[in-house]
Amino acid sequence: MLMRIGGQDKEGIDETWIDVTNPATSDIIDRVPAGTKEDVTLAVEAATAASDAWEKKPIRERGMILYQAARKVREQYKDLARLLTLEQGKPLRESMDEVRGFANILEFYAGISACQNGEAIRLGISGDCIVIRKPLGICGAIIPWNMPVLIMGWKTGPALLAGNTLVLKPASSTPLTNLKLGQILGEAGLPPGVLNIVTGSGESVGTAIVRNPEIRKLSFTGEYETGRKIKQLAGSALKEIVLELGGSDPMIVMPDADIDKAVEGVVKARFYNAGQTCNAVKRLYVHEKIASVFIRQLRDRVERLTVGNGLGSKIDIGPMNSAEQREKISRRIEETRDNNEGTILTGGHSLKGTVYEKGYFYRPTLVNNIMPGSRLVTDEIFGPVLPVMTVPDLDTAISEANNSRFGLGASVWTKDLSTTKRVFNEVNAGIIWVNRHLTVPPEVPFGGVNDSGIGRENGRHALDNYSQTKTLYMGW
Ligand code: NDP
Repeated sequence: MLMRIGGQDKEGIDETWIDVTNPATSDIIDRVPAGTKEDVTLAVEAATAASDAWEKKPIRERGMILYQAARKVREQYKDLARLLTLEQGKPLRESMDEVRGFANILEFYAGISACQNGEAIRLGISGDCIVIRKPLGICGAIIPWNMPVLIMGWKTGPALLAGNTLVLKPASSTPLTNLKLGQILGEAGLPPGVLNIVTGSGESVGTAIVRNPEIRKLSFTGEYETGRKIKQLAGSALKEIVLELGGSDPMIVMPDADIDKAVEGVVKARFYNAGQTCNAVKRLYVHEKIASVFIRQLRDRVERLTVGNGLGSKIDIGPMNSAEQREKISRRIEETRDNNEGTILTGGHSLKGTVYEKGYFYRPTLVNNIMPGSRLVTDEIFGPVLPVMTVPDLDTAISEANNSRFGLGASVWTKDLSTTKRVFNEVNAGIIWVNRHLTVPPEVPFGGVNDSGIGRENGRHALDNYSQTKTLYMGW
């Protein structure tokens, strides 16, 4: 597929290409242009040219275009989901959820298009003020490979509704569905140049977006170290930055929890997307009173998970997105074994054999008896591995939950209101779930504290964050 600049499909100026690989088979399924700084310049020019007319369009009309795009996405959701599975690896069922999630986001922003109100301020004898909201101008979006469709929705929905134009860079391993969604938005009436998608590496296209002085706001999702680099690169430019940098979400299970529900909850919240989700459960703390029953039930359930090509039927877990991602997980588990940092309860190895030979499959893994300070707990483990810890009481659970440099999400599984209140008040995170984990519907603001990032996406807040106030002061 080609990149999209100014409403046109375009090859890169350099005429070099990046292969896109199916992680279940290692087959090359397509290629996209390896864009350069010059392609980003063209995209910014197209975004600039489209900016004025897009801002002047009534917000309801911008919302209607998002709504029409959502309708088209729903009509084509099966084909889009198949494309997403082919390039990303996740099971078709999860891809369908993600594509429908993208449509939900566009519909949410279309739905609130009539609600972007300003305010009037009475100042007595010195006058009155009218405060309106204006778009920021040209915005940049850098997308990761783990949830490329949903995260594209989180960035495009509010940015475009607020009247901004956008230059977006997909991840190099998952550009295809993002490009297809760009075409669909165009077919739904998005004027040329309002959304430009430049494919290419982080080093060339990503850096050029971060450095471009015309881009007023940048939203990035990905690794902590990349986020830090981006913040430094953009530091001297007057640019707003949102960084969503992952997490190490704790889940606390108390003795009064519904055990069946909590087991299902953690299986979904850890192993969804082969564990490659920023707000997945990455550390499990089970109260010692129920630990043996809970862990036995959890192990049985994890051993029944089916791993395979995401296009197959009845597949729970697809391949990891790349050989590098699987290698990182394998290395971490080898280190755990070599240093006696924990006991592997189940899994702990790549999958071999005919159907697995060419893909990046890893068996879902549980580890307990974990040595304090193990990197299994202190790092963000971006794969199907769950460290399980036993705690004697809620105080210990809360203190362990907070013993992390991350703070994206956390959950507590209990029926008790005072336990809920303590976890909500005392655990450092952007979102606390009770008897649930992972779900982030379009209405809910999302983002973390500490090393999990800066700023919030999703929900009404994101619409405000993609605009700024302008005041008319009338002195009577
Ligand atoms: P990266 O942070 O490297 O990539 C995310 C996006 O940033 C991609 O589009 C990438 O482009 C781009 N990028 C990379 N380097 C730069 C740069 N210098 N300037 C601007 N943009 C850049 O994540 P990885 O894909 O390498 O994944 C590595 C780890 O990051 C994972 O193991 C996981 O721990 C974490 N991660 C966390 C995510 C989250 O949701 N919090 C999502 C994805 C990863 P390109 O694809 O071309 O390299």
